[in-house]
Amino acid sequence: MKPSITITSSVPSRLLNPASGYLKGYTHTLNPYGGCTFACSYCYVREMPVGKFRGEAWGSWVHIKLEAAERLERELRLAGRKGPLQIFMSSSTDPYQPVEYRTGLTRSLLEVMAASDNPAFLLVQTRSPLVTRDLDLLRSLGSRVRVSLTIETDLEPVRRAFTPSAPPLAARLKALKELVAAGIPAQAAVSPVLPSSPRLADVLASTGVTRLCVDDVFMGDGSQGKRTQRLGLHKLYEALQLEEWNRPDAYLRVIETLKTRFPEESIRISQEGFLP
Ligand code: SF4
Repeated sequence: MKPSITITSSVPSRLLNPASGYLKGYTHTLNPYGGCTFACSYCYVREMPVGKFRGEAWGSWVHIKLEAAERLERELRLAGRKGPLQIFMSSSTDPYQPVEYRTGLTRSLLEVMAASDNPAFLLVQTRSPLVTRDLDLLRSLGSRVRVSLTIETDLEPVRRAFTPSAPPLAARLKALKELVAAGIPAQAAVSPVLPSSPRLADVLASTGVTRLCVDDVFMGDGSQGKRTQRLGLHKLYEALQLEEWNRPDAYLRVIETLKTRFPEESIRISQEGFLP
């Protein structure tokens, strides 16, 4: 039985927020939603104020931002006066989580950005094949956009264990292939690294993607892994008898695997992989 989801909505005071820390290459972050029903077990947002302030389990609620397109149009105009904008969408939610099928909220934001000179660069970070619904808008953004599609492993049982509510790997790989075939700048984000097999390189190469980013919970959670360790992930690794993957050097195994099919310069590590 699927867990019940609480859906709320309100008009936000602002949509664009100044980027900092891990995302310092960007001027702003843009989160169409609050909360995320993909509910990944390793999601470090669970440990951040945005993940805790409602006092409800992360993954059990989603907040829809109303009048978002109109507000973004105005905010782009105002913020753009200071210079070109680089926007990361999204840092604390997935812009293509299931509720997007019916709201079209992320699509409405892409429409605004495609019709404007700003942002100069937009990174769309998602693990949902729904992103291919918006191929037309992504195409019109041209070289101003990059889609970063998360594929943490090639092993579906591992995906199910760590992210049971997230889209299956086969659907994500198909989506990545479609993005590449459509000429949309795209990368596979092996992020965070989960236990995988040596087939990972072949599986990713089969999509035609030429840019990869490898990150893990030790480098990429903004607290050298402390935030993520508080989530108790070690219990999951122990239950799966895969503890050797819950180490700060496990990502190097993945890089060695990827190097069998991809040139070294196409593989970016951690923060570098997400920069504009
Ligand atoms: S998709 Fe991203 S924001 Fe959503 S739960 Fe997973 S890691 Fe967190």
